[in-house]
Amino acid sequence: MWKKAICILLVLLMNTGVVMPVFGLDLPAVPVIDAGHGGEDGGAVSSDGTAESGINLAIARKLERILFFLGYETVMTRRDENAVYDASAVTLREKKVSDLKNRVALVNGTARGLLISIHQNSLPSHPRVHGAQVFYNGVDDASGVALTVQDALNCAINGSNEKSVAPTGSGIYLMKESQRPGILVECGFMSNEEECRKLKDEAYQLRLAAAIAAGVSSYTAQQSARSAVNEE
Ligand SMILES: [Zn+2]
Repeated sequence: MWKKAICILLVLLMNTGVVMPVFGLDLPAVPVIDAGHGGEDGGAVSSDGTAESGINLAIARKLERILFFLGYETVMTRRDENAVYDASAVTLREKKVSDLKNRVALVNGTARGLLISIHQNSLPSHPRVHGAQVFYNGVDDASGVALTVQDALNCAINGSNEKSVAPTGSGIYLMKESQRPGILVECGFMSNEEECRKLKDEAYQLRLAAAIAAGVSSYTAQQSARSAVNEE
């Protein structure tokens, strides 16, 4: 299975013309992979009853494995279906607040952290809308990371349906409160029947994870090359 992931990643890296990851390089970023939602909060739900939270987790875990293979130290905000709220949280509201605060604390407590939040989109009023889009917060060069990840997703996933990066603005708590550069990847639309079917498919999830990893490694390789030049 993971051999297949590696092949897809390498093919992607070659096809997109991005910089190859360099083993042994002092990689500057520690990706904090956030599978959005969890527990009672399933996030967006498709017409067949599939919850976004499980798809987010499946892609996040694949991304973790690929980044590990590429030599990154990673952090996960959650590793299972459960949310990450404190035991003292009782009401749904309290659980949601506690969950988000804990995620923010984990991101902000990670030195050289780079937040990669995985979500699925939904727009039931426009069921034909589809594709993967990257959003970024206002910290450091988050927009630069978003651009390389979006390029990889446009190449591997979107085809002629190219999308552009956009700022997350102030509406998304985790992105707003993160003191680390952060991107939020909306991998696809649960409201598009065909895309929803793909999003549940392991091979497609792997393709998404490989594209995100290719974008991240491209960006950090560029950063490493830049700092090497500056040191000379
Ligand atoms: Zn979501």
